[in-house]
Parts: sequence; structure tokens; C-alpha cells
Amino acid sequence: MKSYNWNPFSLVDSPTGSAAVVYTCGCHLSCPYCFNPELRQFNSGNFDKKQIIKKIKSLQIVPDPIVNGSEIFNTVEWLIISGGEPLDAPSNELVEIINVGAETDLRIGFFTSGYNIHQFKQIIDQTDIEYFHIDYKGLENDKETLESIEYLYERFCSRYNHMYIHINTTIMRSFHTEEKLFEMKKKLMKILYKNKNIPIFINKPDTSDRLLFWTLTPISINHQNTLTKLNYIKDGFLEEDLDFLKAIVK
Ligand code: SF4
Repeated sequence: MKSYNWNPFSLVDSPTGSAAVVYTCGCHLSCPYCFNPELRQFNSGNFDKKQIIKKIKSLQIVPDPIVNGSEIFNTVEWLIISGGEPLDAPSNELVEIINVGAETDLRIGFFTSGYNIHQFKQIIDQTDIEYFHIDYKGLENDKETLESIEYLYERFCSRYNHMYIHINTTIMRSFHTEEKLFEMKKKLMKILYKNKNIPIFINKPDTSDRLLFWTLTPISINHQNTLTKLNYIKDGFLEEDLDFLKAIVK
């Protein structure tokens, strides 16, 4: 069963440095802004678990001890698990893949919508993931996403002071109205900071030393290959919308 795709080098998926990315193929959701719709097809990947593990191990370069000394090094800093939706993949396989990455001295990142809290807990409890990128959609079933974020936050406070939690919402003007975004913000603040403010950024965070933050990412005209053909006049954010977005960020 071929379930994974692979990118050995990316500069856009990790919070620092470079990453190799494992894409789990398959997702039961249908976000209109999805710009990797081909990754939603189950078992459409080019590789199975064994082949992916081999690729991860190949990131480790063992130099010739006579020519280069004995220090082993990796071609990238991070291994990112992305999708599709990783929580739709078998959790035992993901745990195995993640732990091979950790044994290879890679820092681990995980992209998800957090829609399957049971599976999410299983994976977190059996691995040492350092970077989480959570897609907080505001579209449907936010309850599970918020439960996953809350579970992560408890771990963040109790065990990991080196953990990054990046919550992101891809915003479409026709759906993410001012009221909707304020409602989403209120829910996040309630579970994270007992109603105190959460750091929010439009597009990208302006500092890399934040460990927990929320970004609002307007859909981009560059996203040509989306699942639903988007109307950028209706859904893109314009200059004049920045004022209300700034009010959310405050
Ligand atoms: S954006 Fe992610 S969660 Fe949404 S449909 Fe695409 S793969 Fe699934």
C-alpha cells in the first residue's frame, strides 16, 4: 500500500533551517482552500512505510573517517510530517516513522488539523515532537481541533519548554468575517491563556523566538490549484480589510 510522498529538502515547512517532508496521502476533509488536493487521495503516494524509513535514514551522512573525520551529519535539521491529514494515516506507522527520524537526530515537526484527538494523543504520547503546526479552520468541527490544542498546551506547560506551537487559520473573506474571527480568538484565549491575549500575526510571525502563537493567513492569488476554484474578489483580503484584521491582532 503506497501511502506517502517525500520531499528531501524544503525551506518553507520548518520554524528554523531546512527540512525533509513526509506527506501522508489521504484526508477525509474538503477545505475549499486546499492547495494540495492530490494529497487528499488515500493510498496515492509513491512510497510505502519501509521506503520512507529508508529515505529518512539516507539523510544521515556518514563520512569516510580517513578523509573527513568521524563526525556524522544530517543534510537537513528537521523531519516534518505533513499531509493530506497525518491523523488519517495509521498511528502505529507514523510513530515508527517519527521515531526513526528522532533516532537519526532530526528535530520533528507535525502538521495537522487536530480532528482526531484520540489518534493525536496516541502519537504525541509515543514520540518527542518539537514543532506543531495546527490548522484551526473555523470551518467545521472546531471542537476536536480545540481539544487537541488544549491537550498540546497542557504538555507545553508541563514538560516541554522547547516546543513550538504554531496555530494557523487560512482566511477567506466570505467566511472569516470580523465576528467569526473574534469568536475563534475568544475560544483560543479561553483554553490557552485563561482569557488573556494570545500573540497573533497576519501572515508570518515577526519573530522566531515565540513558542506559541496564532497566524491569520489570507488566501493568496498564488494558490491556483485549490480544491474549490476560489474567487479572489470575494475571498481574498484587500488593503481595506487590514484595519479589521489589525483589530483582531490587538
Ligand atoms: S487543507 Fe489539509 S485538511 Fe484541508 S482538505 Fe487539504 S489536506 Fe485536508
